[in-house]
Amino acid sequence: MPNGGSDCCGTCWHNRSLEGKRGGSNFNHDIASFCEIRELHIDEPFYTYCANHPAHRPNHDSIPIGPVYVGLERKVWKESPDTEEIRQHLLHIVRSPKKHAYLFPNISARDRAIQQLLEWRDTRLISALEELSEQRKTAEGSERLKEIIRLVKEHLDDGSES
Ligand code: SF4
Repeated sequence: MPNGGSDCCGTCWHNRSLEGKRGGSNFNHDIASFCEIRELHIDEPFYTYCANHPAHRPNHDSIPIGPVYVGLERKVWKESPDTEEIRQHLLHIVRSPKKHAYLFPNISARDRAIQQLLEWRDTRLISALEELSEQRKTAEGSERLKEIIRLVKEHLDDGSES
């Protein structure tokens, strides 16, 4: 049974061991754990995590979002692959006003998308956040986003000077 958190590979429909289903009761111990969307062998499925898990992306999102994490501290294990399709997908997640699953806020899809684009120093992140900000209805939400945009710009400017 999962004991490292219910959003682990051991309960994820992208893990071959679950044969397309979701939930620890569908885990088949006779099938080696393998992440179908990241093409990755998973040695410890109940202690491995990523933002594509159905708890974060309930609509079957199969484009990798950020890294894969391991252990109770959820340390980065495998970095995200980097393609233009993946970047476009992350930008879409950032812009999207739709509700994201925040059951496990430490790996929320939008936060992972922002962090990954920042790491790649993709300046399109700024306009994606600005688009999101324009859609915000509450002053509080809008102010918080403006602060995030300011920090992102600062971070990207710092990097361009080095
Ligand atoms: S790495 Fe992510 S998508 Fe792949 S099986 Fe694990 S939780 Fe699911």
